[in-house]
Amino acid sequence: MRQIAVIGSGPAGYYSAEALQKQYGDAVRIDMIDRMPVPYGLIRFGVAPDHQSIKAVSRRYEKVALSDNVRFVGNVSVGRDVSIAELGALYDAIILATGAPDDRPLEIPGGDLPGVIGSAAFVGWYNGHPEFADLEPPLDVAAAAVIGNGNVALDVARILAKTPAEFGGSDIVGHAFSALGDSRIRGIYVLGRRGPHQIAMTPKELGELGHLEDATPVVDLADFPPLLDDALLEPGQRKSVSHLRDFAGLPGGKRKTIHFDFFAKPVRVEGESKVERVVVERTKLDERGAAIGTGETYAIDCGLVVTCIGYKTPPIPGIPYEEDRGRFANDGGVIGDGLYCVGWARRGPSGTIGTNRPDGYEVAEKIAADLGPGAGRKEGGAGLDRLLEARGVDIVTFQDWQRIEAAEAARAREGSPREKFVAIAEMLGARGR
Ligand code: NAP
Repeated sequence: MRQIAVIGSGPAGYYSAEALQKQYGDAVRIDMIDRMPVPYGLIRFGVAPDHQSIKAVSRRYEKVALSDNVRFVGNVSVGRDVSIAELGALYDAIILATGAPDDRPLEIPGGDLPGVIGSAAFVGWYNGHPEFADLEPPLDVAAAAVIGNGNVALDVARILAKTPAEFGGSDIVGHAFSALGDSRIRGIYVLGRRGPHQIAMTPKELGELGHLEDATPVVDLADFPPLLDDALLEPGQRKSVSHLRDFAGLPGGKRKTIHFDFFAKPVRVEGESKVERVVVERTKLDERGAAIGTGETYAIDCGLVVTCIGYKTPPIPGIPYEEDRGRFANDGGVIGDGLYCVGWARRGPSGTIGTNRPDGYEVAEKIAADLGPGAGRKEGGAGLDRLLEARGVDIVTFQDWQRIEAAEAARAREGSPREKFVAIAEMLGARGR
């Protein structure tokens, strides 16, 4: 019997477990260890609450989780409750599927002023991540700047722009729903350091902005290359740019405005004791397509700045790490003897949820090739349980999670699939045992 530990129960973790089941059939036992008492990682805490169709992929992971040879071992933090070395002694292989939950810092003067918030924190706040429940982002201000031109910037701009009615059917947590309902923000400035052709936004997500109840996206067509140049873009990007161009023809008259400022590189954040404005330098593209400053600056008055400039995998002491790319150093998912990584921990934070699936299948094949005939004699989960029990760790099982999930559904606002528990103690209490 092969014993495999997967650390992290987000998409990359579940695709790996699914691939290992296909690889080994009944001859494998997989423990999915998560520091949270609830599974699914990015699906629960990252995917926007108004994108329920994307979140529905968790039903596929549930099938894997309910198989006899897969266990969810929640509320267990690797590094605190158990070490990698201890797991190495218990399991034939360890797969790090820890995602990239940390913000890349905005390294400009004033980037640490109160009111500058990373997207991991802001998204975590509206998605009920226990670490960010007390964030209290300043929403009693007239304007917000959203830095970055990726899909996370779009999520953040859209969430700031929506009316309470538009959160119908979402699972936005109560504290964020009421705070956003009271928000005074009317101007949302999405700042891209490069141009419309260099955005990292996908068409469906961008198109949504054109249909908001009380907000209008605004672009300046002077920022765009000639229309004919759009033909040179790959089809998805062409569609995204075409949505942006269409925004120029939308009628105004709504209360909120989402301004797309292109060629706008934030150079400093200013304010007495909190954010009051972002100073932006106009850029142009060099021949390699990189943004270079022109020396011309302007200021955007705002009381909230959300940086959406990418994420990092948290390093684990003793495991090789690529600081510049914010991920584990690896060769096609292999870190070292018996140690592998998948998903954002392997590639860095890029791609859609489905991009993680091939990673899982590739790593399962590598494990099968690497594990020699001597493998299959390690103790696996029984040894882990004994060790955690001796340390007084309160493990959450998948059956516990199902009770937590039912309790969240039972207390949901009308029309919402669930009202998430935010505090860890509440989650543990909802197990009913
Ligand atoms: P991303 O797609 O890598 O975009 C990051 C953006 O930040 C880029 O526009 C980048 O500009 C900009 N940036 C980086 N450093 C900057 C700096 N110092 N100053 C100003 N701008 C800076 O990252 P993301 O938006 O965090 O998304 C992560 C992944 O999740 C992506 O693959 C995304 O598609 C995916 N995602 C998907 C969905 C969805 O499908 N609905 C939703 C959310 C996220 P440059 O291009 O100039 O570097």
